[in-house]
Amino acid sequence: MDWRVPLSDLNFGAEERNAILSVLDSGWLTMGEVTSRFEDAFASMLDIRHAIGVSNATVGLHLACLALDIGPGDEVITPSLSFVATANSVKYVGAKPVFADVSSLMDFSISPSEIMGLITPATKAILVMHYGGYLCDMSSIMEIAQKKNLAVIEDAAHAPGAELLERKAGTWGDIGVFSFFSNKNLATGEGGMVVTNRDDIAEKIRRMRSHGMTTLTLDRYKGHAFSYDVVELGYNYRIDEIRSSLGLVQLEKLERSNQRRREISDYYREKLANLEGISIPYQDHLGITSAHLFPILLENGLDRTAFMQSMKDDRIQTSVHYPPIHQFTYYREQVGEMRLPVTEEVGAREVTLPLFPSISEEQVKLVVDGVKKAVDDSSS
Ligand SMILES: *Cc1c(COP(=O)(O)O)cnc(C)c1O
Repeated sequence: MDWRVPLSDLNFGAEERNAILSVLDSGWLTMGEVTSRFEDAFASMLDIRHAIGVSNATVGLHLACLALDIGPGDEVITPSLSFVATANSVKYVGAKPVFADVSSLMDFSISPSEIMGLITPATKAILVMHYGGYLCDMSSIMEIAQKKNLAVIEDAAHAPGAELLERKAGTWGDIGVFSFFSNKNLATGEGGMVVTNRDDIAEKIRRMRSHGMTTLTLDRYKGHAFSYDVVELGYNYRIDEIRSSLGLVQLEKLERSNQRRREISDYYREKLANLEGISIPYQDHLGITSAHLFPILLENGLDRTAFMQSMKDDRIQTSVHYPPIHQFTYYREQVGEMRLPVTEEVGAREVTLPLFPSISEEQVKLVVDGVKKAVDDSSS
């Protein structure tokens, strides 16, 4: 498909190309000094003690569950309105994802009061997701977690640099996980980062991302070690130097590109504010968003397929975030039939508009005009 406006696009230039070439020249390809620099820079951006580079956010979430000793018999409360990897990470460790509804049709993040109602003696953790880069109500969620002695994991795949009450996404809970998949705010193709302030968790995650080994190939190359022990079951969840070099360059651009995303979001909000047939969530959000997504909600009665087809006819790409996880065949078999009224409404009526830092003024206008036309085309 030859889109006039794609849903997202890379924010890459000569710096990324040069970063890759300098890794090739260095002769060291996997997790090494460039990765350490990327981890240090990421940790300082968040003002957190530890940042650990991994192959992608999905394995980062797996490591987070492992590091918190979540396992068979445990329940983890999590949103169904997320990417399937969020819930899958709970399944990987043999625990049960317990799906909580989201707050409202204006706030697609997990609802603290729904969390409260789902806590049982088996509940071990709350796994939240900052939808679109808008932080969940973390004050309330942390209060619940402290009162009930639950761990908190933040799936911050959408939210690098986002904050609430001057505290960054990923630094509220015990562990935060970021994704550098190619359509995310900071892109390396595949890649992720696990962050924590807890030294014990950081040590465990560092070890488990590399086979549970006590020394690294780099240590042995440098002559720091001859051998190693394996002290627990580990994985190969490492990131490599080429991706880390991209990450370093992308991290330098992050604040500027997030700002650009916010400006485009504000423009959409202004131009679509009074359009009948749609509503726009997160109007009064208190935090600073990373504006990963621009979601709109179609009114009841509009046909979403017709809406998206009308946009497609204008060569404008749209998407849905998300088909609810509890409605997937696999999860229906796992958790049985259940109702999450707000999640299901959002899942049926949400449309995501194009949003990326390099979108042109002309493209943004095309989207606004396209939405107006698509509302007409989809009303019966
Ligand atoms: C992208 C994404 C993930 C998975 O990230 P990967 O790096 O592709 O594994 C997990 N959760 C959410 C909410 C995401 O958007």
